[in-house]
Amino acid sequence: MEMKQAVLDLIPGRLVRIFASPYVAGKGLISGIRKAEELHLKQGLCTTLDLLGEEVVKAEEVNATVDLYYRMIEEAASKPYITISLKPTQLGILQGEAECQQNLRRIVALAAQKGVRVTLDMEDHLLTDVTLRMFKAIRSEFDNFGIVLQSRLFRTPEDIQALHLRPCRVRICIGIYREPSAIAYQDKPVMKQKLLECVKLLLDHGHYPEIATHDESLIRKCINYLDSLGVPKDDYEFQMLLGVPRTALQQEIVKRGQVMRIYVPFAEEWEFAIHYLKRRLGANPFMLGMVVRNIFSR
Ligand SMILES: Cc1cc2nc3c(=O)[nH]c(=O)nc-3n(C[C@H](O)[C@H](O)[C@H](O)COP(=O)(O)OP(=O)(O)OC[C@H]3O[C@@H](n4cnc5c(N)ncnc54)[C@H](O)[C@@H]3O)c2cc1C
Repeated sequence: MEMKQAVLDLIPGRLVRIFASPYVAGKGLISGIRKAEELHLKQGLCTTLDLLGEEVVKAEEVNATVDLYYRMIEEAASKPYITISLKPTQLGILQGEAECQQNLRRIVALAAQKGVRVTLDMEDHLLTDVTLRMFKAIRSEFDNFGIVLQSRLFRTPEDIQALHLRPCRVRICIGIYREPSAIAYQDKPVMKQKLLECVKLLLDHGHYPEIATHDESLIRKCINYLDSLGVPKDDYEFQMLLGVPRTALQQEIVKRGQVMRIYVPFAEEWEFAIHYLKRRLGANPFMLGMVVRNIFSR
């Protein structure tokens, strides 16, 4: 793993940037906002904006991140089709839970005041407990706050049962991080079957599932199942990452009268985006194959 990351670190940033460009809105908040406006106006898509950059360690960097999220909220306030997403490591979780939670609470509180919804992304299994703890503490005060759960983890059905009593928005995905076999499924088809089961469980508990996958057959299975139960279309939504070529399917979902939300990352500096993408490639080298396939199938 370390060896693989060392090899990835040797890939020139410029090359990563070329590969990454379809997947990142660009540099600066304005590029994220413009992309969100364009996707909404031209394709009827909703978005969730994300500032790229993980493992922020210095206090001044955490403060700068919080400020940027404040600006993001101000921009999103007049655009109901935009939500925002953020990661605990961007807000200093590796330095301490109390401060991270305080930062998160400040962001969620401002967003609540402005009518903007916030989603807390889920990182690797070492952070699952602390992420859920912070989520539950803040969710008990603010309804605009949602969370992500990963169907590859054995624990996820229990985490769903233990969520807040009030209905929550829960993005359910297979999870990007490779996790040990002692705690997680290793086969993708199983992770996807579990995702469908998690969608059912979320609905049974009155939550709002945000089904995040690009797998067309899984999406169709979800639609058929939820239609067969007569679940109203506005009781759940679908989400995909910017740049993954699924235009026809996205339009089909929009035409069903359903929310189709695109995760739109942007970077303050390209180095952050490059670092982030290299880390993602380290966590999941198959992504490189996907990126290459997608670029050449354009
Ligand atoms: C909106 C959104 C938010 C997410 N948030 C989180 C999170 O907080 N925590 C977390 O652990 N994971 C997150 N993920 C990632 C998710 O867990 C999966 O790793 C990712 O979506 C790939 O799984 P899949 O279900 O699309 O199936 P796959 O079988 O992996 O993908 C199906 C097909 O989609 C295409 N594809 C999928 N991903 C990519 C990609 N990155 N680049 C290019 N093509 C691709 C490929 O053609 C692939 O064959 C998120 C995903 C989305 C869509």
